[in-house]
Amino acid sequence: MDIAVIGSNMVDLITYLERMPEEGETLEAPEFEMGCGGKGANQAVAASRLGSDILMVTKVGNDLFGQNTIENFKANGVRIEGVEVGTKTSGAAPIFVDPNAKNRIIIIQGANSELVPETLENHRSRIKQAKLIVLQLEIPLETVYHAIQMGEELGIPVLLNPAPANPELDIAYVKKCTYFAPNESELGILTGMPVKTVDEIKSAAVSLVHKGVQNLIVTMGDKGVLWMNAEKEVFIEAEKVKAVDTTGAGDSFIGCFAHFVTKGSPVEDALQQANRYAAQAVQRRGTQTSYPTLEEFRAN
Ligand code: ATP
Repeated sequence: MDIAVIGSNMVDLITYLERMPEEGETLEAPEFEMGCGGKGANQAVAASRLGSDILMVTKVGNDLFGQNTIENFKANGVRIEGVEVGTKTSGAAPIFVDPNAKNRIIIIQGANSELVPETLENHRSRIKQAKLIVLQLEIPLETVYHAIQMGEELGIPVLLNPAPANPELDIAYVKKCTYFAPNESELGILTGMPVKTVDEIKSAAVSLVHKGVQNLIVTMGDKGVLWMNAEKEVFIEAEKVKAVDTTGAGDSFIGCFAHFVTKGSPVEDALQQANRYAAQAVQRRGTQTSYPTLEEFRAN
């Protein structure tokens, strides 16, 4: 087993509307799509499609969405021994998209909120076999801290993608992570510093590295990615592509980086590959549906 992804799963319920409904109004929508999502699941699927052996530790609800999510993990070759069934409904995300691609999203955490430290202890012997633990913030913060602690005890490096941003994230735990990978706006929220230009992003990044963050990786959408540690600073420009849907780009990037770094690639090479992989993903519609397989990635 290569990577343990400890995190969320969601079912995306995407309604395409001609306009948003008013209060009390019933509106017909021309199109509806369902998709598997959740940051943890997305990252697991991306890395698995590239060929990594992934253990997913997550909680689904005792409902059709939960069964669907489990089937989706199986179809993508993700191990499901760490998938537990909770008492709440499955995590879900009703998403409303208007013709200008403007969206309104509601997140229902559901069973993701039941992924507690004890759940991780149920799977300690499995997690122990991983070369990397990958975490995000769509599960309780105490579980994230517990996973970081477990990584330290087991001598396994941890990659933390602090999304969605949580200003309460304790820097003491962040410092224990080998890789800390926010996007630019998460970096802004965590540091309280401006992050509009690349120079501002660099200053905010320096402040975190000074606080003891080991390897800071800041994804910056169509600008690219910045890697900074106490010794070096590397900026990789984004590929020049025509983006059609950037939803889940960050997750594809993290999944791909985790894949290459656990295969033994130096960090800079793994970042180059992730930058290329995410650029391919943004050229297709959807979240997981946009993630290339290894064959597709190599061919493009
Ligand atoms: P999301 O929340 O939608 O998953 P994110 O904000 O976490 O995304 P971004 O920083 O937007 O993640 O993007 C991650 C990476 O994807 C970027 O660092 C870059 O490598 C690639 N990327 C994103 N948008 C583009 C684009 N328009 N063109 C080329 N590459 C892109």
